[in-house]
Amino acid sequence: MWRGNQVTTLIARPEYIGKTVNFRTFKNSYKDKKTKRADKEDWVVFDDTQEPIVDEETWLLAQKLRQNVRKADPMGEPNVLTGKIYCADCGAPMYNHRQRKGRERIYYTTKGEKRISHSNPADCYECSTYNLAYQKYDRHCTCHHISTKALKSIILKTIQETCHYVSLNEQEFVYSLQEESAMKDIAVSETVKKRIERNQKRVHELDMLIRKIYEDNVIGRLPDRLFQSMLTDYENEQNELNKIIETDIADMQRIIGGQNNVERFLKLVKKYENITELTPAMINEFIDKILVHEPQGKGADRTTEVEIYLNYVGQFQVPVEQHEPTEEERIAAEKEAERLRRKRESNRKYMKKIREKSKEFAEHERIAEEKSSDSNVCVEQNATSKSNQQKMKGEKIA
Ligand SMILES: [Zn+2]
Repeated sequence: MWRGNQVTTLIARPEYIGKTVNFRTFKNSYKDKKTKRADKEDWVVFDDTQEPIVDEETWLLAQKLRQNVRKADPMGEPNVLTGKIYCADCGAPMYNHRQRKGRERIYYTTKGEKRISHSNPADCYECSTYNLAYQKYDRHCTCHHISTKALKSIILKTIQETCHYVSLNEQEFVYSLQEESAMKDIAVSETVKKRIERNQKRVHELDMLIRKIYEDNVIGRLPDRLFQSMLTDYENEQNELNKIIETDIADMQRIIGGQNNVERFLKLVKKYENITELTPAMINEFIDKILVHEPQGKGADRTTEVEIYLNYVGQFQVPVEQHEPTEEERIAAEKEAERLRRKRESNRKYMKKIREKSKEFAEHERIAEEKSSDSNVCVEQNATSKSNQQKMKGEKIA
C-alpha cells in the first residue's frame, strides 16, 4: 500500500532525473547519535550519474504542481487555474467562486404563461484582497471580477496563436527572444567564460607558488618572516579569485539554463500544435501566471486587460501585421458596429417590456392567490400541483 506522503517524497527526489544527492543529512559531531536533515542549499548534487527514469521537464512540472495546494471545492473538483491568477493592482492571488446552481428567475411570457429559467451557475475569479476586506465590511482594492469561461477562452486563444506563430516562424521566434535577453547573455557569457579560465589559471599558478615558498622555507632559502607574509598574500589572492569564479560559474549556468528554456518551449509548441480545446495539463505546462487588471468601461463596452505569462518564455506578444483598412473595410466595420448597437437597443427594449409584463402578471397572481386562500384546502393542493407542472415545463424550456 502506498501512502500519500511516501509518494510525495518519492516524486521530489532528484534521483529520478539521473542525479545523485550527497550530504542530505549530517551530524554535529561523530559522537552524536542523532542525524539531522541538511538544508537543500547544502546538498551536493551530481548530474547524470545514472539513467534517468523521467525526463527533466516532467520532473520540474511535477515539482511546480506540488507547490500549489489545490483544494477540491465543495463540488469536488480541484481548480486548475487556482494559484496562477493574480490581481494586477495589488498582487494578491485571485480566488475562484463557484455556484452549484444558477439563479432561479420566474417570468411571464407576453401571453401571460408563467416560466422559470435558471441562469448559468456563477464561476468566476475575484481579487482576494477585495473579497476578504469586503467580508468585514471594509474596502481594499476592487473586485477585478472575471468569469472562468472568459479566462479559459483567452488562455486557449493565446496558446493557439503562440503555437501557430512559433511553428510557422521558429527562426524568427528564437531570434526575437534572443534579441531581448539571450543576445546580451551570449556576449556576457563570452566575457564570463574567459574570466573564469583566466582566474582558474591564476589559482593554479598560486598553488605552485605556495608549494615553492614552502620548499624554499624548509631548506632555509626563505626566512620565516618573509615566508609568512608571502603566504598570506598568496592565500588572500586565491580566496578572492575563488569567490569570483564561483559567482561566474553560477552566472554561466543561468545563461545556459535560459537557452534550454527556449528549446523546452519549442518542444511544448510541437506537442500542442493543433489543439482545439483547453486541458488541465496544457494549462499547467504553458501557463506560469496570469495578471488581471481592473475592468474599464461599462455594459457591452466593458473590457478587462489580462496579461498571460508563459512558462520558459514569459510574456510573448505574437507580432501582428498592421495594415491600413481599405475604404470598403472601414464602411463594413462601421455598418457592423451600427448593427450591433441597434441589436442591443432592441434587446434592451424587449427585456424592459418582458419585465413590465412579468410584474403585471405577478401582481395579478398575487391578488388571485390572496382571494383563493380563503377557499378550501382541496383547491390549494390543486394549485400546488399545477404550479409544479409549470415549473417542470419551465425547466425543460430553460
Ligand atoms: Zn487586488
